[in-house]
Amino acid sequence: MRFKINEIGTEGLPVNVTVTADWVAAACPDLEARPGPSGLTLRGRLDKTGDDYLLRAELRGPMETTCARCLEPARLALQLPLAVTFVSADADDADDDEDPDLVTFQGGEIDVGDEVRDEILLAIPINPLCKTDCLGLCGVCGGNRNLVACGCRTETAPSVRLAALAKIKLPTQH
Ligand SMILES: [Zn+2]
Ligand SMILES: [Zn+2]
Repeated sequence: MRFKINEIGTEGLPVNVTVTADWVAAACPDLEARPGPSGLTLRGRLDKTGDDYLLRAELRGPMETTCARCLEPARLALQLPLAVTFVSADADDADDDEDPDLVTFQGGEIDVGDEVRDEILLAIPINPLCKTDCLGLCGVCGGNRNLVACGCRTETAPSVRLAALAKIKLPTQH
């Protein structure tokens, strides 16, 4: 996801990149979410502003993961605005580490990959849900309570479990 700064003209440089599942798998190996088959799109532009370069873009598309409650596939629709200022490591003000919003780059190429990775990692919740009111799995029968109203009552669970245990006959020894 690199852009050559000498290709950024006065009109800026259009950014139109597909972020594939393979790319996310390599960039975020511990993330249990992947883009859908069509990937994510990063669309926007890179503009030169003085000695700096400004990326303004939007990262959008579906991420597929697993619902933390019902364990069914969960789809998260990302729509993330990106605004990042890149400054050449060779520039005079590159030593100014005071500004955390500045990202330095070297060698005449701006790599937006780290910014895309960070946006994805920040956007995926620790416990993603298939829907905000997901009912999850029944603690008694294990059924998906979004699909079936199984009628189990969690407060009766201990007695149900005991009854089930009582029905288990251990093999008698002769
Ligand atoms: Zn769910
Ligand atoms: Zn149940």
